[in-house]
Amino acid sequence: MVMITALARAKINLTLDVLYKRQDGYHEIETVMQSIGLHDRLEFRPAGGGISLVVEGKGVPRGADNLVFRAAELVRSRTGTKKGVAIHLTKAIPVAAGLGGGSADAAVTLSVLNKMWEAGFSPAELLKLGEQLGADVPFFLQGGTALARGKGERLERLPPCPALGLVLVKPPFGVQTAAVYRVCSPGQALVKPGTRAMLEAIREGNAAGIAKRLANALEPVVFGMYPQIAQIKERLMKAGAIGALMSGSGPTVFGLTADLESARALAGRYSEPGMQVIVTECYNNTC
Ligand code: ATP
Repeated sequence: MVMITALARAKINLTLDVLYKRQDGYHEIETVMQSIGLHDRLEFRPAGGGISLVVEGKGVPRGADNLVFRAAELVRSRTGTKKGVAIHLTKAIPVAAGLGGGSADAAVTLSVLNKMWEAGFSPAELLKLGEQLGADVPFFLQGGTALARGKGERLERLPPCPALGLVLVKPPFGVQTAAVYRVCSPGQALVKPGTRAMLEAIREGNAAGIAKRLANALEPVVFGMYPQIAQIKERLMKAGAIGALMSGSGPTVFGLTADLESARALAGRYSEPGMQVIVTECYNNTC
């Protein structure tokens, strides 16, 4: 078999509600997840023997801790195959940014190796394998627009969100998701997302309605730790975004626009030293 190239798309959270802390220590969440155009690129070449990984990009583990490597190991151990692979990962998704880059890479690795090594896992089996690597890996196996519950692994597909424009602003530091959840107390959440209203706005394809319902219960927690993230949100709104929100556990904030063209214009008006600014759009499998 020849080389396979695949794109691992990032996500944003249009809503993120933290419902309660579970007996197992995890938080029960309810979140509307949306694939976006920004992506890493992965190349897979059949190779004799083991698994090798070359990573282009900063701040990502190079060896066995990389989720790409762990996903490949998982397929290998589950199938007992002796086949090998040489993987080249080119990172474009900022790391520890709330954009799910590591999980997106893991999902692509599972699907490609399932084909390349003729492992024969069904879509449902792949979702189960994904869950072992991270709660949001199942979402990346499906992509598009979805409501996720549990730790993020229980998915309900939603109609595609309109192809809204996005300006992502990432400050020059990462945020560890676990650290945010450690200090999050769901009972005292200052933000209560209206998830039902968001689902309705998505079903209607109503951009203004989606912008109005953007809400993330983790924002007050993370804004308390890093006030500069709240300022990014304000700046994006002042610069003309129709809505703005921190994605996941941050620190990336996205500004929403009617289309890609308006996102480019918004990014042109947004300037702040030290910030990484990326223009992209909501991406649906139907595009
Ligand atoms: P999450 O909310 O799932 O923690 P995130 O978008 O905030 O995701 P990621 O970019 O997925 O963050 O990275 C989280 C951690 O995973 C990083 O600190 C990094 O060390 C580790 N990691 C392992 N493999 C990868 C990978 N292929 N790409 C990015 N990070 C990876």
